[in-house]
Amino acid sequence: MAKETTKAARPARQEMPAQDPQERAHNFYEVALGYRPETALLEASRCLQCKKPQCVSGCPVSVRIPEFIKALSEDNMWGAVEALKDKNSLPAICGRVCPQESQCEIQCILGKKDQPVAIGRLERYVADWERAEGMRTPTLPEKNGKRVVIIGSGPAGLTAAGDLAKLGYKVEILEALHTPGGVLMYGIPEFRLPKDIVQAEIDYLKTLGVTIRTDVVVGKLYTLEELLSQYDAVFLGTGAGLPMFLSIPGENYMGVYSANEILTRTNLMKGYLFPKWDTPVKVGNRVAVVGAGNVAMDAARCSLRLGAQEVHIVYRRSAAEVPARAEEVHHAEEEGIIFDFLTNPIEILGNQEGWVTGLRCIKMELGEPDASGRRRPIPIQGSEFEMPMDTVIMALGTQPNPLVFTDATQLERTRHGTVVADEKSGRTKMPRVWAGGDIVTGAATVISAMGAGRVAATDIDAYLHQDGDHPWWPDDAVQAKVS
Ligand SMILES: Cc1cc2nc3c(=O)[nH]c(=O)nc-3n(C[C@H](O)[C@H](O)[C@H](O)COP(=O)(O)OP(=O)(O)OC[C@H]3O[C@@H](n4cnc5c(N)ncnc54)[C@H](O)[C@@H]3O)c2cc1C
Repeated sequence: MAKETTKAARPARQEMPAQDPQERAHNFYEVALGYRPETALLEASRCLQCKKPQCVSGCPVSVRIPEFIKALSEDNMWGAVEALKDKNSLPAICGRVCPQESQCEIQCILGKKDQPVAIGRLERYVADWERAEGMRTPTLPEKNGKRVVIIGSGPAGLTAAGDLAKLGYKVEILEALHTPGGVLMYGIPEFRLPKDIVQAEIDYLKTLGVTIRTDVVVGKLYTLEELLSQYDAVFLGTGAGLPMFLSIPGENYMGVYSANEILTRTNLMKGYLFPKWDTPVKVGNRVAVVGAGNVAMDAARCSLRLGAQEVHIVYRRSAAEVPARAEEVHHAEEEGIIFDFLTNPIEILGNQEGWVTGLRCIKMELGEPDASGRRRPIPIQGSEFEMPMDTVIMALGTQPNPLVFTDATQLERTRHGTVVADEKSGRTKMPRVWAGGDIVTGAATVISAMGAGRVAATDIDAYLHQDGDHPWWPDDAVQAKVS
């Protein structure tokens, strides 16, 4: 039963201030500005403190939501930090990028008749408070003499590394790029997730004794077998960074990008600071982004900020099926991004010099739900039309990059290229190799990757501490779901 609070006495859900849409469409500063202390307290006071909190069951890592909100409302900020970080090691990031509306907030009992508690905004507030105060490094145990190597430094790898370091392991991260952080650094733009926040998490890991080696492409420099001869355990968290294309005519024209390329140039290689940073990103006046997930929203909003006059999201389903976070769609609309729903590209048009000049599309209608559970888009014959464009960006989803699998014949993979791993332990079919995050699930979410990193770290610890012989692959193994 929830505590007695009448609706009349309850304040309305507190809005989070944001930069003016006209202004922010031309800069890369953070869009959402965060709660002020009085707003956070007001929002926290809306929580009913349910005895059986549904919000916790909606969170993929079961964050102790009512407890952190209670501590916050009692001005016990370190208590709030402790309750929050018990299950979520990256709250400043999750508070900004988690799809709360389909996870914890959709379960909030208040949402049945009123607006749900703004759990994500409160999470962000507590995490930002902690960062401003200075993150406290826990007392670390003596090193236990065992060594674990983590491949990839996205949320899965960072979480596994932090958990294992706190348990006394010597942990080394190997990262292919020159900067650690995975998608948090190279994909999600500064205006949604400022990079100093990600950097603070990486610096914190270093205070735990984690070593990070960048510019190390596993599969090229070392094989998994070689790493297994040097370390007690290997965790694979290399994500799903290989972009997919539509395979339609014209995809080779200049001016066609994958979203990954344009986002990496813009974010990781600081193309938005050109010419101060030597990374040109050419988008032209009219840009079409194909797809409607978070990646598509980021590519569209970056294009606007890079100077495009007109940016379209071209999506073959309707507004109801858009997979991006609600807040990103709302912000994109406010900034003037144009949504072309029920529209599917069938050809990219170009000129004799090889540059994109437009997109040929066909209108779609929705049929019965397909395997994804969403209604299947069906082309309407004779409805073809053309849209003039200077740039086309494909944001259609990604797969794991196969480089890391060089000579790893024991690793079982699905037909989608993802690694088969046991959901409860993160074990792959290759002994002493664990995996988690997008490399297992396909493109998913930050919090699910983080949760998988934590599951694997717990199992690595259990495995490396057991005596005698035990079967490697659990009998009741449940193959991880494939996206
Ligand atoms: C543009 C964009 C926006 C997104 N927005 C959101 C959002 O708003 N909310 C949300 O929840 N999720 C979002 N996601 C999804 C989320 O970021 C991912 O699900 C998550 O980052 C996956 O984490 P990971 O640790 O598995 O992999 P990644 O974050 O992909 O990290 C993998 C790391 O491994 C490295 N690596 C790859 N191969 C090798 C190799 N051979 N050797 C060494 N290192 C290697 C990569 O360079 C990378 O640094 C977004 C994704 C993108 C691309």
